[in-house]
Amino acid sequence: MRRFAPFIAAAFLALGGCATIPAAPVARPGVASDGVGSVSAADPRAAEAGASIIRQGGSAVDAAIATMLALNVIEPQSSGIGGGSFIVTFDAAKATVDTYNGRETAPAAAGGDWFFKDGKALTVAEAIPGGKSVGVPGNIRNAALAHQAHGKLPWLSLFQPAIALARDGFAVTPRLYASLKTYAATGALSADARALFYQPDGSPVPVGTIVRIPALAATLTQIGERGPDSFYVGPNAQAIVASVNASPVNPSRMTTGDVATFKAEHLAPVCGLYRGYRICGMGPPSSGATTVFALLKQLERFDLGALGKDNPVAWHLIAESMRLAYADRDRYLADADYVRVPLTGLLDTAYLASRSALISPDRTMANVTAGVPSGAPATALGLETVEQGTTHFVAVDRYGNVASMTSTIESPFGSGLRVGGYYLNNELTDFSLTPTGADGRPVANRVEGGKRPRSSMAPTIVFSPDGKVRLAVGAAGGATIIAQVAKAIIGVIDFNLSAREAIAMPVLFAPGDTVFVEKGSAHEAMIPALRALGHADVRTRDPSFKANAVEWVGGRWVGAADPRSEGRRRPRNAFDPASDEETRDEEDGRRWRKLRSNISPTW
Ligand code: GLU
Repeated sequence: MRRFAPFIAAAFLALGGCATIPAAPVARPGVASDGVGSVSAADPRAAEAGASIIRQGGSAVDAAIATMLALNVIEPQSSGIGGGSFIVTFDAAKATVDTYNGRETAPAAAGGDWFFKDGKALTVAEAIPGGKSVGVPGNIRNAALAHQAHGKLPWLSLFQPAIALARDGFAVTPRLYASLKTYAATGALSADARALFYQPDGSPVPVGTIVRIPALAATLTQIGERGPDSFYVGPNAQAIVASVNASPVNPSRMTTGDVATFKAEHLAPVCGLYRGYRICGMGPPSSGATTVFALLKQLERFDLGALGKDNPVAWHLIAESMRLAYADRDRYLADADYVRVPLTGLLDTAYLASRSALISPDRTMANVTAGVPSGAPATALGLETVEQGTTHFVAVDRYGNVASMTSTIESPFGSGLRVGGYYLNNELTDFSLTPTGADGRPVANRVEGGKRPRSSMAPTIVFSPDGKVRLAVGAAGGATIIAQVAKAIIGVIDFNLSAREAIAMPVLFAPGDTVFVEKGSAHEAMIPALRALGHADVRTRDPSFKANAVEWVGGRWVGAADPRSEGRRRPRNAFDPASDEETRDEEDGRRWRKLRSNISPTW
């Protein structure tokens, strides 16, 4: 296991056991809970897949794997076995936190000019479709590694709910329909995707259509029966390589050796203390944990709770801390197996206090640049992209073990290429497409053979001052993930909100000098006040966000799904509007009542 900082590992020895699981069912929209644990996911059918595993006595990791596989089937635009993942786990018996890195790798042939054509770097939009953006998928070996350490049920049983969904069919949701429509160019790139999800006139199949994917059912059955290596060696690996290399758009140079040698990693978590709460997450190649933690820690000297969640000054402070944290992230974070990431320096309390000292409650910083943490190498800034091909879910089992997992294919429908009924990722566009910055210095996140692109995914577990799990949370939405996760934590710790309320709170995203506030949200009313504080460029942005969490509150596990996603719905008999007053709104109620008449009764 790679150690990030000695204090991190040592800190876990002090953690107490986890709270006991309630005997009574915990009913929450988008969350499958049966009295012995809880699962929260972006789609109720996936939450139910995880819950069914827990009911059979499975562990949190077992449930997370089953949820990931089910999401592959029903939310194909967002994630799947053609992509990668990070898992953060809490083992209640040992009181330890572990992380698992299943981030995709670049083919050995890749280098700084991988995304260059005729001596010029492709734009991100040009680089996404086709073979070159595809990294060797990491999800299956990551799941296998975590299962080896934390699994209780047989590997094959974790595949059964997803196999059933792919074989028997699933209803197209409004969200999948909207993605099929918006991303028709990518979503329909391969012939089998066109046949499954689109009508002859090129429009997506209507909401409620039952789609069956026999090819995916067969792939999942094979990996379930023959084990994880059957994904990486043999016909499936050959199909991946053939597909990316023969792509008419951006052909790759991947080899079966690239696929066969893929390794998932078991890593120490990155943790730090915020107001007495221990925040643990995913280290490099993710920028998630370091950036979430810096954002929080730089705010510690301000009393956000006293300011309150509706106060523009609180959000101004959050924006300022975010600008500082993202500046460091953009300069220093990348795959630590390839570049020196100054991890200890970035997490250092004195360093973060010096960064925090730059923040003023009554005026905007004129100029934000990366700081110089101890151990900082000379690197340049890299290009950033924003995506939506990701999904987060949390599972808690009857023993109090927790798995917080984010799974991705990067952009909606990834590269658009499909093999074996699943989409291949376009994760390699998470690299900087140019190897050097404007100043000629190398970019930490440049393309290199075998390297993993930097991620923003931030599966996180938060421990109360008494050492017990308080919250497990994560999100989808590219670079906004960090802002969403930090907001959820601030909501729970500083504003004393439930996880559901904290997730529902509007998003503010300030990765640079522009401040984006969530379109149509209460934050829009703060725009004049933010401008008065000196934020010259404040814009609104569509709420393409999606977070999921499980929290321990009032002596029980309570799941929280994002009201912006379909995960808010109940896992079973979800569509009786009267049963779901808590989060229902009229528009969604109507939409789902309509869908209900089209879905299979076994759902
Ligand atoms: N590929 C992105 C990352 O790893 C996530 C994309 C998304 O959230 O949609 O940071």
